[in-house]
Amino acid sequence: MCRILLFFALFGFFVSIGGAWAADNVNAVAERYAHLVLALGQHDPDYVDAFYGPAEWKTQAEKEKKSLEAIGAEAAQLIATLAKMPDAATSDDEMLKLRREYLLKQISALAARVRMLKGEKLKFDDESRALYDAVAPSFADSHFDEIISQLETKIPGKGPLWERYEKWRKPFVIPKEKLDTVFQLAIKECRARTQAHVALPPNESFTVEYVTNKPWGGYNWYKGNFHSVIQVNTDLPIYIDRAVDLAAHEGYPGHHVYNSLLEKNLVRDRGWTEFSVYPLFSPQSLIAEGTANFGKEVAFPSKSERMKFEKEVLFPAAGIDSKRADEYYAVQDLMKQLNYATNEAARRLVNGEIDESAATQWLQKYTVAEPARAQQGVKFIKRYRSYVINYNLGEDMVRRYIDKRTGSDPEKRWSEFGKLLSSPRLPSGLTTNRH
Ligand SMILES: [Zn+2]
Repeated sequence: MCRILLFFALFGFFVSIGGAWAADNVNAVAERYAHLVLALGQHDPDYVDAFYGPAEWKTQAEKEKKSLEAIGAEAAQLIATLAKMPDAATSDDEMLKLRREYLLKQISALAARVRMLKGEKLKFDDESRALYDAVAPSFADSHFDEIISQLETKIPGKGPLWERYEKWRKPFVIPKEKLDTVFQLAIKECRARTQAHVALPPNESFTVEYVTNKPWGGYNWYKGNFHSVIQVNTDLPIYIDRAVDLAAHEGYPGHHVYNSLLEKNLVRDRGWTEFSVYPLFSPQSLIAEGTANFGKEVAFPSKSERMKFEKEVLFPAAGIDSKRADEYYAVQDLMKQLNYATNEAARRLVNGEIDESAATQWLQKYTVAEPARAQQGVKFIKRYRSYVINYNLGEDMVRRYIDKRTGSDPEKRWSEFGKLLSSPRLPSGLTTNRH
């Protein structure tokens, strides 16, 4: 009896020593990974989306200016080190398992980005699998044609649909001088709705800036210390539906909340340094964009609730006739069904099946975009390539993951959503049956 007890005591001792040893090693890999992301940022100005770790790490990366070869070799080493580590199977803390898998995939994605910068050409789906841990479904033109034919009946007039659409939606532009007032109202509402369900760090904050000449519509720059700068591109007219979209996507409960919760729960509370850096071309982006897009439905669990707010607050603040809100959103709902068309244009352009001008034409037709907007779309695709899947596929994957766990219970939805925003779950982990 005594001997058995002694055995268990010793066994427990070694398991806990082993656990501590593994955690130390994972921490060491995590820190080296963060340095590697900064090193790769020296070769690719879009790569480091956010970094709020020790400032000297960044200076060090600038001084060292590691070669792509050295970065690739170090990534391979880190992957081998992680692969040799026990997979925390002895731990009942799922977060530790997720952490190890997350690091493995993030470092593999970094290695793929290194190969791309060295000139390797990947096909669209291979690239999205390597960088974002996911592959978007393909759709034939006929799928979009069907949606387009429904839109044809809703938009009056003669001529190409995009031209009629532009004319039809003119009354729904937010006048430039009212843009900030309307956005601030949308942000206030989304923030209040988020705060009622998610414990936000008490000093979280963000500022909004209006910019021009960018390939994107809006961008959240996370500065650390629970602060973001949200930039809105005013190159093209901004329509009323963008107010809630932008407030939820960039702010609450989207990017700003996601980054703040990662900093609070993972970096500060657990000391997981890998989350003090955010590499844009990595699986983390699918989770970031997917949760940011789906966030609107979490904040406004029903369309009628959102419409009430739009009609009573946003439309009047923008000076837009709220009696036309239902008509406007019926068309927007159809437009949303076209969002996978951007993936198709990107897939064909990246794979060299069509050239830039054909991609512009395709976007013009299948996303019902005026030429300037279609050109902005092609600019975005050329710079960010398969990143486009993170928005629509990301949203659909997050929706399925959350719905499966919560049904239609809005309260449960908030709690699962908050958990997802505070964990290192990967895109492929959204589709497994594991909880
Ligand atoms: Zn985004």
